[in-house]
Amino acid sequence: MPATYPDPEARKKRRDTLMQLRLALREQQVVMDSAGVGIVFIKQRVIIRCNRRFAQIYGHTEAADMLGQTSVSLYPDIASFYALGKAAFTIMTQGLAYKSEVLMKRRDGQLFCSHLTGKLVNQADTEEGSIWIIDDISEQKSAQAQLQAVLTEQNLILNNAMVGIAFLRERTLTRCNHSFEKLLGYAPDELIGCSSRLWYPTEQDWLDAAQQWQVPLASGEAFQSELLLRKKDGSSIYCEVRAKAIEAHNPAKGVIWITLDITARKKAETELLQARTELEKLVALRTQELSQTVLALGVKANEQKKSEAHIQKLAHFDALTGLPNRLLLHDRCQHALSVAHRNHQSVALMFIDLDHFKNINDSLGHRVGDEVLVELAQRLRKTVREQDTVARLGGDEFILLLPDTDTAGAARVAEKLLQVALMPFQVEHHELTVTPSIGIALYPKDGADLDVLSKCADAAMYQAKGDGRNSYRFFTPAIQAHSDRALLLDNALRRAMARHQLELHYQPQISMRTGQIVGAEALLRWYHPELGAMSPAEFIPIAESNGLIVPIGEWVIRTAVNQLASWLQRGMAPLTMAVNLSAVQFRHADLPQLVSRILQEADLPPALLELELTEGVAMKNPQGAIAVMNDLHQRGVRMSIDDFGTGYSSLSYLKRFRVYKLKIDQSFVRDITEDPDDKAIVGAIISMANSLGLKTIAEGVETQGQLDFLRAKGCDEVQGYYFSRPLPAQAFEAYVESQAHRPHSVD
Ligand code: C2E
Ligand code: MG
Ligand code: MG
Repeated sequence: MPATYPDPEARKKRRDTLMQLRLALREQQVVMDSAGVGIVFIKQRVIIRCNRRFAQIYGHTEAADMLGQTSVSLYPDIASFYALGKAAFTIMTQGLAYKSEVLMKRRDGQLFCSHLTGKLVNQADTEEGSIWIIDDISEQKSAQAQLQAVLTEQNLILNNAMVGIAFLRERTLTRCNHSFEKLLGYAPDELIGCSSRLWYPTEQDWLDAAQQWQVPLASGEAFQSELLLRKKDGSSIYCEVRAKAIEAHNPAKGVIWITLDITARKKAETELLQARTELEKLVALRTQELSQTVLALGVKANEQKKSEAHIQKLAHFDALTGLPNRLLLHDRCQHALSVAHRNHQSVALMFIDLDHFKNINDSLGHRVGDEVLVELAQRLRKTVREQDTVARLGGDEFILLLPDTDTAGAARVAEKLLQVALMPFQVEHHELTVTPSIGIALYPKDGADLDVLSKCADAAMYQAKGDGRNSYRFFTPAIQAHSDRALLLDNALRRAMARHQLELHYQPQISMRTGQIVGAEALLRWYHPELGAMSPAEFIPIAESNGLIVPIGEWVIRTAVNQLASWLQRGMAPLTMAVNLSAVQFRHADLPQLVSRILQEADLPPALLELELTEGVAMKNPQGAIAVMNDLHQRGVRMSIDDFGTGYSSLSYLKRFRVYKLKIDQSFVRDITEDPDDKAIVGAIISMANSLGLKTIAEGVETQGQLDFLRAKGCDEVQGYYFSRPLPAQAFEAYVESQAHRPHSVD
């Protein structure tokens, strides 16, 4: 039924009202549609009006799509619809707005969380409907849930982290994990709200720390440092801290601190540092000690080197002349020989011995002798080439090693050496001359090593001496044979006495006047089982050179004296015993005493012993000889000069010699019957002896003719094969016996 309006005014008013209403509704719809939340008007469980947002929340596009729908469809199920209605209407009927979060169901059945605010249009009449504002908070909810999860996770991480983590704002702790509390010795949550000043040792430290971290944090960087912090109990811990503003560039909004206790590490580091410092100190000390030791060692090594060099010098060089010694010569020789062997060269080895050098030593003293040797060494050195070696073997013996030198070269050098030695040596106020005898051996001709070569050179040198000295000789096979035999005899002779290989033979000496045996000459015989009978002319010089002549000579005197004593005891007519004396024996100081002792032991009158000396013995050192002869003469011993005429006896000395007899050498006797010279010499000797009051005896008489001549000249005694060869003792005795029965004549 249509409404009727009484007047136009009223109608107009009504029209205006309706227009205003429509406008208001439109405005309302615009407001509703532009609202961010869903708005719905429900009356008697039916959706009367809603905005687009509401429709969208529930899965529709336009608000119109939902008009007329029952509100039950908005809920997940009927039960939830009723539950909400019951809760909401209790509140809403009191005129209050009902607010709640409830689950709703979208058009597609999906549930979502919503925030509801509902109010009755008229609290007094629920039939007039209700208005609901609905907000889909499912996203917010899930965001919240996520946030919660993150926070839970964060807490989990925080509290299980091994490092201390603290959130500070305005230097006040807002949150921290257990590790941070434990690190500083606080109970859970005890630090919340506390100022960070609490865990800094001093106010200054705390302020300083802020100075350090503020700049990097404000510029969005992290701050990292090592800080000394204080625990609740007051003890200190070293921490490594890292800080970062939660909101970059704005530390005021909060800073997160990650703190790691590095006290143990620090301690270890400090200890390590200390240990290292200690070690370094120790190393420095040791190094110093070591360098000192090294220094000392160096000094020692140097000293040792020096002393080694000195020893080396002593070992290899002759102390007097500074020349290489035998040892060094040996090395050099080996080297020279091996080079020569490779290059097919010859090497000369020279043996130099000074003639009669002993005289200089004996008469002028060793100092003078030494100076001559030093000077000579220099001359030798200057004479030879650089590559030659001049070595001194001791005494007055030198060896020269001349590499790459043949016979001609060696001869030239030897001549030069003889020349340089000839120049007088001026020592103190003495002007001395020495002459060398040089023996030369050549590699490879004469030998292949130093031993053989030096033996050869030595033998050649003896040859040079034997040939008149002051000359040189090359080694030859003849010298070889000679020196070989000399060596052989030398060795054999050393054993001869002990093996009773020596024996004396006796040669009778006959008086020219009576024809009777007036004496015997004792002549030494050596019979060697292998070498056979040896001539004394050969082995006596060897015995002289090796000194054996002294004991052998003593044996000869004793044996001869004892033999004569025993003959006399057994009734042989008295006769003299002539014993040959070597120069070496004669020089021996106690010869006179020895002779006297032997005579006394045998109880023989000294006048029955006659000592035969060669001319050389007496002439070499006439003054000394005269003294010894005087001594012997005083003891009653007679002396004769053997081999007279072969030497150079000075008549003036001859007068002063206490000799009793001259023994004319057999070399004159041999040709006395034919050679006018020998006749003249022998005649002269006899008449000279007569004028000096000396007796004469001729040896080597073999023929009647010789005997006749000697008798005619007035020779006193004779000795020779004409009467008898030298005989063994028994044979001599028998000979004497047989002669005793002959008429007293030598005709
Ligand atoms: P000597 O003292 O001049 O001895 C004489 C030498 O002439 C002896 O040689 C003797 O056997 C030898 N003779 C004697 N009558 C004749 C003769 O009618 N014709 C020939 N052709 N020779 C005769 P021996 O025994 O060989 O002695 C040689 C030399 O050895 C001795 O020469 C003497 O200088 C030395 N000598 C021998 N025995 C000794 C000794 O006991 N001591 C020393 N120091 N020298 C000795
Ligand atoms: Mg003699
Ligand atoms: Mg003689």
